[in-house]
Amino acid sequence: MFLFAALTNLLYPPACRLCDAPSPAERTVCRRCERALPATLAPACQRCGVELRGAFDARMDCAACREAPRAFELARAPWRYAGPARLAIRRFKYRRRWRLGRWLADGMARTARESLPLGEVSAVVPVPLHGLKRWLGGGNPAEDLARPIARSLGKPCRPRALARTRWTATQTRLSWRERSRNVREAFTALPGDVRDRTILLVDDVLTSGATAHECALALKRAGATRVYVLTAARTPLDER
Ligand SMILES: [Zn+2]
Ligand SMILES: [Zn+2]
Repeated sequence: MFLFAALTNLLYPPACRLCDAPSPAERTVCRRCERALPATLAPACQRCGVELRGAFDARMDCAACREAPRAFELARAPWRYAGPARLAIRRFKYRRRWRLGRWLADGMARTARESLPLGEVSAVVPVPLHGLKRWLGGGNPAEDLARPIARSLGKPCRPRALARTRWTATQTRLSWRERSRNVREAFTALPGDVRDRTILLVDDVLTSGATAHECALALKRAGATRVYVLTAARTPLDER
């Protein structure tokens, strides 16, 4: 076993999963990349977690949340969707790098412990993909994040509690208004899994919040009491 490990190290020297610089085997991401991670800066909107710049009132809600109240109570993310955080998410999602997924999930679980009232959370639910998309893409990245997070927080993971009822267009280039029309009533939840419960909803990135909002609506229609949203990253305000 030792010889095997030594040989593997020789053939594939341990490297950072983001910048490929030599890095101890037990580290997924090297110290330099970790230091370059764009943290979500305080002050943040107390509801959706977006950074607030310049003047804000005592309620500390962003304009978007005041204009169109979201169906979820809180959304938190360890990082802004930029730099090494964006790279890690893209590699995990599109190249199926599971070690980066584990590493993202660790960061998310830490943020959940620090900033969400976990005592009342009784299930972790990933944002679902349409069945065909899940099949075509070889799985659901949100579920691959939700499982280790649930394990780490000691909560049950309920990947079938939410389902997508119709195909939705890819949202990368859509505004909040277009996005919210695109995902309106695209989800349905199983009351048996969520009624009278507080749900921790997990996704990779929170952009406009339209998807999380629709998921939270579906969960509440099925009787969920509260919905907290946890994502690996949050798009900065001016990119929404
Ligand atoms: Zn690195
Ligand atoms: Zn907000």
